[in-house]
Amino acid sequence: MLRSLFTMRIYLDHNATTPVDPAVAEAMMRTLGDLFGNASSVHYYGQQAKSAIDGARSAIAALVGAEPGEIIFTSGGTEADNFAIRGVAEALEATGRRHLITSGIEHEAVLNTFKALARRGWKTTVLPLDPSGIVSPDRLREAITNDTALVSIMHANNEIGTIQPVAELAEIAHANGALFHTDAVQTAGKIPVSVRALGVDLLAISAHKFYGPKGIGALWAKRGIRLSPFMAGGKQERNRRAGTENVPGIVGMGVAARLANDNMPGESVRLSSLRNRLEEGILKAVPATQINGAPGSRVPNTTNISFDRIEAESLLIALDLEGVAVSTGSACSSGTLEPSHVLKAMNLPVHRAQNSIRFSLGAANTEEQIDRVISILPAIVTKLRSLSAVGSRS
Ligand code: PLP
Repeated sequence: MLRSLFTMRIYLDHNATTPVDPAVAEAMMRTLGDLFGNASSVHYYGQQAKSAIDGARSAIAALVGAEPGEIIFTSGGTEADNFAIRGVAEALEATGRRHLITSGIEHEAVLNTFKALARRGWKTTVLPLDPSGIVSPDRLREAITNDTALVSIMHANNEIGTIQPVAELAEIAHANGALFHTDAVQTAGKIPVSVRALGVDLLAISAHKFYGPKGIGALWAKRGIRLSPFMAGGKQERNRRAGTENVPGIVGMGVAARLANDNMPGESVRLSSLRNRLEEGILKAVPATQINGAPGSRVPNTTNISFDRIEAESLLIALDLEGVAVSTGSACSSGTLEPSHVLKAMNLPVHRAQNSIRFSLGAANTEEQIDRVISILPAIVTKLRSLSAVGSRS
């Protein structure tokens, strides 16, 4: 296929990261220039930086329905997840509760932290799922014991977008004396998130998923929760997270949180309509395609589609040549295609875990862009299928 001469670039990978909003960048530049003080310093410069951090803290607390004093800034979602899980595990070790529960569709930030703790003697349970991609409360009821210290289940999945029944799962954890952490990296800024309505104890978010900068995130920890700091150092963040604060990052995250809060109602309706247009268009125009995960309970911007007799990686590259950026949970390592761990955990056949593409939409996407993707896909897929060495697999 000839590459279009005038390629319009279309970014459909917002679950990987989002472009920084110009208002965020502008606030960060101002902070870099003017607010160079160390927020721990008592003098004017320090207090200016501290006041900027406090403003951002309030905006981020408002985004998740929390108190500002419960927000702990981190270097991103990965650190927030590590902090929640390791912090609770260490704080509760002495109680004799040495069991942790998570699900097979979590981000590596959670799954690999569980593996690290398992190597240190913690008993861990990874809940299996079905093709809906939704964690079953019954599975949690079966797995939880009096030894369970923490349950960690994500709010929405990054690959398929399914929203988990977190409030119900948290209730089960609490009824058994366990704490509950949720990775809300893929929901904060996209759908309303309320720590109180969810009834969780800990919640992780990351700025670069909602038009803020990379390298900054936050852990919300309910007041009174026992949580061991996992970095030794100064007394920043009320003794919970040592290290001089990333003031420009925090200010940027605060502006992004404010914008997300303001834009969310209209933007979520607009994105779900665009997502549905894309999904329906692809299913109609490209034979042998299927949606992965329960379509009824997803974040508005995400769809994950399986293309029969296609290698996801090849489709991703072909789309990139046409100026369309998408992603796949499967990864090519040493010449073989590793199936997506999320789709595998959902018990989908291996070929489906290798032939699926995630489209994740965001602020700059338009109907025109969506229609262009729908129009170029059939020819790309037909060509790849004709070249495919994968053979016919149903
Ligand atoms: N959790 C989920 C669900 C994610 O999608 C991501 C990022 O892809 C992370 C955690 C990690 O966040 P960060 O990139 O800020 O470390």
